[in-house]
Amino acid sequence: MHFNILTIFPELFPGTLGAGVVGRARDKGIWSMDVINIRDFAVNNYGSVDDEQFGGGAGMVMRADAIGPAIDSIKNPGKIIYFSPRGVQLNQKLVREFVADKNAIYTLLCGRYEGIDERVLDEYDITEVSIGDYILSGGEIAAQVFVDSCVRVMDNVLHGGADSTENESFEIGGLEWPLYTRPSVWRGHKVPEVLLSGHHGNIERWRIKNEHY
Ligand code: SAH
Repeated sequence: MHFNILTIFPELFPGTLGAGVVGRARDKGIWSMDVINIRDFAVNNYGSVDDEQFGGGAGMVMRADAIGPAIDSIKNPGKIIYFSPRGVQLNQKLVREFVADKNAIYTLLCGRYEGIDERVLDEYDITEVSIGDYILSGGEIAAQVFVDSCVRVMDNVLHGGADSTENESFEIGGLEWPLYTRPSVWRGHKVPEVLLSGHHGNIERWRIKNEHY
C-alpha cells in the first residue's frame, strides 16, 4: 500500500508512523509513503498557499491554485482523501474497506487554516473522511490515524498474525476485555484466577462476559 501525503508541515511525517509495528511494516516494505510539501506549489515567492475568504469572515482558506498543482504533481494519486470534520466518520469497518486492496494507492490531503477552497473538491474525485466529531487544527493527525489504522490490519504487520487483528475490540463489537500481564499480584491486586487456569473455554467465556460494550 502506498500513501502520498500532501501537507504544509512535511516535518510531521512519519511522526508516529515511524514507530512500533507500523514503522517496522514500512521497513519491511509492506507500505510506503511520499510526503509532498504543498508550499512547493505556492502561488508566489513568499510561499503563500492560503488567502482570505470570499464573503469575509475570520480565518484563511487554502487556495485551489496551490493544492491543484500539488495533486497534479503526483504521478499516480490513486484514491484521493481529504480529511475534514464533515466527512464520513472513520471506523474499523471502513478501515477494512480501505485496506481490501493491499496494493491500493491513497493520496491524503491534510487541510490547515479553515480548510480548502471548495472547488478542489469539485475538480477531483475526493472522499472526505473525518476521524471524529471535534475540530483539529490540521489534517496531519487525521492522516496518521488513517495510515496507522489501515497498516495494522494488513497481513504480516502484527506479531500475532491474523489472530491479533481478528480479536481486535471493534471487530467483534465490544471494546476489549480487561488485560493483565506479570506480575500476577501487584499492590495487592490479583489477576482474575480464571486467566491463570489455562482452561481456554473458561477464559474465552470470561473475556466475552467482561468485554466493555
Ligand atoms: N473550518 C473547519 C475546521 C477546519 S480545521 C470547521 O469549522 O469545520 C483545519 C483542518 O483540519 C481541516 O481542513 C481538516 O483537514 C483538518 N481536520 C479538522 N478536524 C478534523 C476531523 N475531525 N477529522 C479529520 N480532519 C480534520
